[in-house]
Amino acid sequence: MSRDQIIFDLISEEKERQTNGLELIASENFASEQVMEAAGSILTNKYAEGYPGKRYYGGCEVVDQIEQIAIDRAKALFNAEYVNVQPHSGSQANTAAFQAVLKPGDKILGFDLSHGGHLTHGSPVNFSGKLYKTAFYGVERETGVLNYDKIQQKATEVMPQLIIAGASAYSRDIDFKRFREIADSVGAILLADISHPAGLIAKGILNDPMPYCHIVTTTTHKTLRGPRGGIIMLGKDFENPFGEKTPKGTVKMMSTLLNSAVFPGTQGGPLEHIIAAKAIAFGEALTDEFLSYQIQVKKNAAALAASLVAKDYHIISGGTDNHMMLIDLRNKNITGKQAENALVKADITVNKNMVPFDDKSPFITSGIRIGSAAVTTRGLVESDMGVIVDLIDEVINNFDDETLLEAVASKVNNMMKDKPLFA
Ligand code: PLP
Repeated sequence: MSRDQIIFDLISEEKERQTNGLELIASENFASEQVMEAAGSILTNKYAEGYPGKRYYGGCEVVDQIEQIAIDRAKALFNAEYVNVQPHSGSQANTAAFQAVLKPGDKILGFDLSHGGHLTHGSPVNFSGKLYKTAFYGVERETGVLNYDKIQQKATEVMPQLIIAGASAYSRDIDFKRFREIADSVGAILLADISHPAGLIAKGILNDPMPYCHIVTTTTHKTLRGPRGGIIMLGKDFENPFGEKTPKGTVKMMSTLLNSAVFPGTQGGPLEHIIAAKAIAFGEALTDEFLSYQIQVKKNAAALAASLVAKDYHIISGGTDNHMMLIDLRNKNITGKQAENALVKADITVNKNMVPFDDKSPFITSGIRIGSAAVTTRGLVESDMGVIVDLIDEVINNFDDETLLEAVASKVNNMMKDKPLFA
């Protein structure tokens, strides 16, 4: 077979883009070389429906060991009692978790998408909004932060079967203990979706959902810096979320429900090449080096926020506790879409994002979301964040000046030229 030069040339082009640019998309990161090597390995050839030791295919002796190592490392990393490492993505993890504990028509209460939630937390265009009855909580207009008393009120009004704590664009730490009190008061199951801050949570930098949430899902490719994928976990002190009426056996019962919801409920064969890459990423995340990385991620985000505020950018909630922030650009007379397009021309990648109480459509938006995980992997530190904000500000103030955008791109390329792509 001849080499598919068309695709490999495009991959080289993408590598150039990633190498030369400033990656500020809050959900992206650069996985290590060994993570990518595993993801591109011959394990892609193997079918392994089922779970280690209980497969529907022969020849699974090796992948059984790999999957078990991935499970054991994830358990150690998050202090979990049970982990399913097979979900192909964060959305798949949520799909399976919902399927395990809900029936179609049940009620779910999630973070409003336009306030920072995720599509899978009940959006009408997603399975979660089509299969289940949805209700939402959001942030306060004045402060941009969650008001737990109002979430309690909403829960009491709606009486949901499931409450989802977690977000795609919320820069403050989440009070999982308070969420559990709310869930208990209405007899709901509490699911934490920690897709974004998982790396910071794993290293103890943010509140830990494990002691409080019945189910925890996460992606593996954002702050966790692994391959694209998802996992589902149960904490150590897991209690039976179905109360007295359901069979005893707690973790065992829930893990059986979750395992069958992943396979055969919502997926077929697991991606063992990705599971191997997850195992490597979890191994990396267990090191002290990863703790230093997460500390730097948080410091860099705080430095970005401080520099932005100093230039009169309106950050929702006024700052950040984690790796990201949402910027409302309405005082800068530019839409999220215009800002994203101009920044891309200057080799700075961000995504346009709705801001709470946005008056523009999701295709236009009033804001952008930025995060520090990827630039921190490239080795940038707090002193670089002010420079980045100066560049962003130049672009936003001159977004239709093509010559200036090109000049900023050269500065960006120069800044990134000796920064390694891999951790
Ligand atoms: N949950 C949250 C909170 C997310 O931010 C995301 C991705 O952005 C997901 C779930 C879904 O992850 P994936 O894109 O892997 O399906």
